Amino acid sequence: MPEPAQSAASNATTRLSVVVPCFNEESVLPALHQRLTAVFQAAPEVELELICVDDGSRDGTLALLRDMQRDDPRVRVLSLSRNFGQLAATTAGLREATGDAVAIIDADMQDPPEVIPQMLARWRDGVEVAYGVRTERDGEKASKRWPAKVFSRLINRISEVSVPLDVGDFCLLDRQVVDAFLAMPERDRYHRGMIAWAGFRQEAVPFHRRARAAGETKYTNAMLWRLALNAVLSFSRMPLRLALWTGCAVSATALGVVAYGLLSHLFAADPMAGWKLAFAATVFLAGTQLVFLGILGEYLGRVYGEVKRRPLFLVKERLGFRDDTNEP
Ligand code: UDP
Ligand code: MG
Repeated sequence: MPEPAQSAASNATTRLSVVVPCFNEESVLPALHQRLTAVFQAAPEVELELICVDDGSRDGTLALLRDMQRDDPRVRVLSLSRNFGQLAATTAGLREATGDAVAIIDADMQDPPEVIPQMLARWRDGVEVAYGVRTERDGEKASKRWPAKVFSRLINRISEVSVPLDVGDFCLLDRQVVDAFLAMPERDRYHRGMIAWAGFRQEAVPFHRRARAAGETKYTNAMLWRLALNAVLSFSRMPLRLALWTGCAVSATALGVVAYGLLSHLFAADPMAGWKLAFAATVFLAGTQLVFLGILGEYLGRVYGEVKRRPLFLVKERLGFRDDTNEP
């Protein structure tokens, strides 16, 4: 039988989208573009589209992206109407991605673009989520590293899904996973948890996380704590359960103390002073009630956020997309 005339290369063309959330990244974007395109120059079988999402930057990021798009038609630019945060910006990019496989990478080159072909190789072997695992982390303060470690372990213990340790947002997703991710309607988006929840065949790709190429991190410690709290509350009902169990324990203790007080009045020579007992019990109960009202309030606030059903982000400008309309 004669061999089919078609070349293997054209059959094996892979459409890859790379999504980059960008907030005030003018100092790194040209280098990122150069490094990414250099990586794929050696891989003609990959049809690349680079989706850069300008997340309401206040520096020259958008102007730079427009120039990049003019010079390179593989670049697509999405500009959001204000700063909606990295997670919303990433979701915006994923929504526009048309690739069979989609990579998510930070703009600052802390995640090396050279790792994407390794992820792509795993994808070709049938892995649907290839996620980057940081074996070493340069240029990050201990005050950021150790809470991150404690947090990952905590969330695994208490949440509904198991999230791999030392994983960030750097990953490559199969089209099916992207569609599953986009079908999740929640506003509170803890990406690592959502991707872990989706299932499919997931595999780690180790890499060395470098220091930022230029510019500064966009996250203060307070923002990181807020993100961690968000992740816990959106992926675990443990705090609510804790309220229930603490309530039970406090009631049981209070009942015991009341019984003891009553018995001491009946039988002991030196009975416990009633007011002391009542005062201690009241303060204790008031304190725990306030704490748990706070926890309830956090969940209620989240429900409120969800029922408003506002969009996650608003798009102001689209450039370089095949269907170049200005529709969000
Ligand atoms: N980012 C964003 N919107 C934000 C904050 C950050 O799009 O409000 C982007 C940022 O441009 C970068 C990525 O998210 O591409 C990660 O941000 P950063 O490097 O500051 O975070 P770190 O690596 O310090 O955790
Ligand atoms: Mg960074």
